[in-house]
Amino acid sequence: MKLDFSQLNKQSKRSFGDQQAMIKKVMQGKAVNCTECGQPLFLVTPEQSDVPGIACKKGCTHIHLDFS
Ligand SMILES: [Zn+2]
Repeated sequence: MKLDFSQLNKQSKRSFGDQQAMIKKVMQGKAVNCTECGQPLFLVTPEQSDVPGIACKKGCTHIHLDFS
């Protein structure tokens, strides 16, 4: 198996941009589904959890956000 790092970098860069767009949408209260399980993503506030951020029910998506 040959690893193509240029492709990997491209992908992670793209997914970083996707992640930013996704976070914005969720923060605006728009419906966004998890790319893994298709369940809706929701905002986890600091009141709800020690690790606030954006998550799906199954937990395959959990983006930690700093609410400070
Ligand atoms: Zn999920």
